[in-house]
Amino acid sequence: MPDVSERIRDNLARVRQQMADAAARSDRAAEQVRLVAVTKSAGEVAIRALVQAGCHELGENRPQQLWQRAARLADLPIRWHMIGTLQKNKIRRTLPLIQMLQSADSPSLVEAVERIAAELSLRVPILLEVNVSGEASKHGLEPPAVGPLLEELARLEHVEVRGLMCMAGVEGGLERARRDFAALRGLRDRLRSACPDRVWLDALSMGMSGDFEVAIEEGATIVRIGSALFEGADAQTSEVSQTSEVEGAEG
Ligand SMILES: *Cc1c(COP(=O)(O)O)cnc(C)c1O
Repeated sequence: MPDVSERIRDNLARVRQQMADAAARSDRAAEQVRLVAVTKSAGEVAIRALVQAGCHELGENRPQQLWQRAARLADLPIRWHMIGTLQKNKIRRTLPLIQMLQSADSPSLVEAVERIAAELSLRVPILLEVNVSGEASKHGLEPPAVGPLLEELARLEHVEVRGLMCMAGVEGGLERARRDFAALRGLRDRLRSACPDRVWLDALSMGMSGDFEVAIEEGATIVRIGSALFEGADAQTSEVSQTSEVEGAEG
């Protein structure tokens, strides 16, 4: 059986090469695209191997699992990203742990983050999650709602809008994904030309294991990749993974 560390190093090297190739196709340098490794289905052994291999930005989509992992992996130099639904009663415990909230999907959530960040004396970089695919199951702001919201968010002192985030629609394969990513980029470009002061729209977080190359070709500056990084490393870490799942469960 290949060693977990070796497998993870290979996966990381392959993903980084694919990212660099896609960046070159969009006339950008590889350094212009950041990799956030999504650890939600990975075990602790594999996550440690990934950080040791040089990937320091990690993302979780459930706050309780993020808290648990931030505690268990506190000895490692990790920068955490929250990439999934953040319930309002979990904001206070989450903010001090993260370097970015990528999934700000409603005005009321952002208002609550502002209030709590003020109490904690934090400044929180956020991305606004936009429902570009139009699928009812997807979270996020409707595209026409984003522009008017930016004016309001420019007033906030503890929240910094850094860009936009989306997930591609599940139907329609890569062609559909490309359209959704191009739509997010188009929205960003239009809004940026009339962007209020103290709002930055440089970041575009889009692309997962199945579609990150297309996302980079369409302008992604952050990709969120899970399964492509951890594939083949699960067999030996599933026990840890299952334990984490139970301990991290909601409710
Ligand atoms: C799980 C997840 C990802 C990564 O998905 P993979 O297909 O495993 O790469 C990216 N973004 C979000 C919001 C996720 O929940």
